[in-house]
Amino acid sequence: MNPFSLDGQVALVTGANTGIGQAIAVALAQAGAEVIAAGRRDCDQTLALMGQVSERAGRQMRLDFSDPMAARDVFAAERIDILVNNAGIIRRADAVDFSEADWDEVMDTNLKALFFTCQAFAKAALPRGRGKIVNIASLLSFQGGIRVPSYTASKHGVAGLTKLMANEWAAAGLNVNAIAPGYIETNNTEALRADPARSRAILDRIPAGRWGRPEDIGQTAVFLSAPASDYINGAVLNVDGGWLAR
Ligand code: NDP
Repeated sequence: MNPFSLDGQVALVTGANTGIGQAIAVALAQAGAEVIAAGRRDCDQTLALMGQVSERAGRQMRLDFSDPMAARDVFAAERIDILVNNAGIIRRADAVDFSEADWDEVMDTNLKALFFTCQAFAKAALPRGRGKIVNIASLLSFQGGIRVPSYTASKHGVAGLTKLMANEWAAAGLNVNAIAPGYIETNNTEALRADPARSRAILDRIPAGRWGRPEDIGQTAVFLSAPASDYINGAVLNVDGGWLAR
């Protein structure tokens, strides 16, 4: 058996229409999984990319986490072995001016929806005695950041909940882990990369000397979904080119 293979596994990736979620879906498909690309809009492009690396047909599913309970019934309906909680948003304003609406929207999407999606997955997976959850955290699961109070709170929450769920479910055969991406080239960071001074300051701090690519996160998600990582529980793995080591 290849411990890095996902043959025979069914994976669901949230926010799979673009960016990191799309790269994760493609990487899981390449590793042999049957992937359900979930998004609040269509994931046609992701399905096409998955089709280039795998003969296994991918599927898509509409999931909009403006309702944090959106995935409530998904895991009871069919066997899903791997859950990747990637969907996330960011809102920027000084802490002193930050609005309640921006607080609630970010916390609902990044933290409340993630928790209740994990809970729904666990209700189905615990009786089977096997399952992998990979949550997408952030550098701001460890650092404070600036002008992103709800994002920082939500991503600290993702790290904490990942450990709690690992504590509660590891003995029953579920692995719950998180990936904390550094600065990755996606829509999310487009404005940052377009600002030469800020972009240079970020690059100068990354020991690896380059921004991360969505594929860097995709391959880590394969590892945390595969049998190779069966003894990893409650880890929040930095994939940041060394940013946090600095
Ligand atoms: P993108 O903005 O490109 O992707 C975010 C994804 O989340 C999109 O698919 C988006 O869908 C989806 N999403 C947002 N809100 C909802 C919702 N209510 N319901 C369903 N899906 C939703 O950003 P990234 O790919 O960069 O981000 C992916 C994850 O990685 C996020 O959790 C982010 O916090 C995290 N991250 C990113 C870093 C980076 O440097 N890029 C660094 C650290 C963490 P839609 O396209 O419809 O908006």
